[in-house]
Amino acid sequence: MKFATKAVHAGAEPDAQTGAVMTPIYQTSTYAQASPGDHKGYEYSRTHNPTRTKLHEALSALENGKHAFVFSSGMGAIDTVLKMLQPGDEVISTNDLYGGTYRLFTKTYARFGVGFHFVNLADFGAVESLINEKTKWIWVETPTNPTLNITDIEAICRLAHKHGVKVAVDNTFASPYLQNPLNLGADLVMHSITKYLGGHSDTVMGGLIVNDDTLAEQIAFNQNATGAVPGPQDCFLVLRGIKTLHLRMERHCENAEKVVAFLQSHPAIDKIYYPGIPSHPGHEVAKKQMKAFGGMISFTLKNNTTEAAVKMLSNTHLFTLAESLGGVESLIGHPATMTHASIPKEEREKTGVVDSLIRLSVGIEDAEDLIDDLNKALNKI
Ligand SMILES: *Cc1c(COP(=O)(O)O)cnc(C)c1O
Repeated sequence: MKFATKAVHAGAEPDAQTGAVMTPIYQTSTYAQASPGDHKGYEYSRTHNPTRTKLHEALSALENGKHAFVFSSGMGAIDTVLKMLQPGDEVISTNDLYGGTYRLFTKTYARFGVGFHFVNLADFGAVESLINEKTKWIWVETPTNPTLNITDIEAICRLAHKHGVKVAVDNTFASPYLQNPLNLGADLVMHSITKYLGGHSDTVMGGLIVNDDTLAEQIAFNQNATGAVPGPQDCFLVLRGIKTLHLRMERHCENAEKVVAFLQSHPAIDKIYYPGIPSHPGHEVAKKQMKAFGGMISFTLKNNTTEAAVKMLSNTHLFTLAESLGGVESLIGHPATMTHASIPKEEREKTGVVDSLIRLSVGIEDAEDLIDDLNKALNKI
């Protein structure tokens, strides 16, 4: 089945009992049992909920995975993966990791004796030199946040698997429409569903998708044991969001390409980070592993100061200044003081998160209106 058909139909058969075409919101914590242990597959909603089950089916279909799990946030999903580790285990990840993931690794799990290494994941020599018998996972983000670096998923999986190391891919920025890491050899896919999958900036949720039955068992155990589950209403909202994922992503990508062309022509702009630009170092790999280049763009100003960035940010009207991304509406953000504020200045500047770096989540509005909004704000600097 093709993607658009799966987006509309996966996990969406009419309700067996009533024929309801849309998945009912099973707003219940518990389920009647005929006699102890004699139930219909549902006992308690921390473990299972029928609305959540339908969302699991939809996500598995979109990522071509066998098992999917949803969580109360993206961080809850990542936390559940880390709970499979033991003190002494090690994880290798990218040096421009999402700030919240970096914080969870270095501030929470490092205290429990898990070791973390951050490198440029495009530098396979550096990655291989860090792999040892304690290495359990390589945690990949591609494209990365906010400088849109690209990792060759197929190649990093080949390297990791040669050493018996598993690969997890945070696929939030691409969404399952643009990229399917399991098809490229990854062991686990993670999503902040809050972003493109939900798509309407109205729900916080995370997801994990895997093929391996043993991994799935461990995830199910840890999720049930520690409890980061979403409610049925949120699952319903995401099921609704998913039905238009392909249409939204097409427009996000189209608009982003138009915005990039505009930024390239504006004299106030210094660097532009977008994997669709042929001079972007990850362009060829992105072309190979993604269907299009996504809706996220970052750029720096020739006037590389926080003041100039703040002037621009506070003068857009269609682009709302806010954290997050991936909703139908356009957002603008300042990574240095917002998403990446928890990363020390020297660390963040090494990866391009300088004071004037501005990140756009290009929405699905009319591209001409978006460009006009950016142009007016840039001319205020
Ligand atoms: C937002 C985000 C997360 C965290 O997800 P939440 O739903 O906010 O908990 C993880 N990775 C990336 C790339 C993100 O953008």
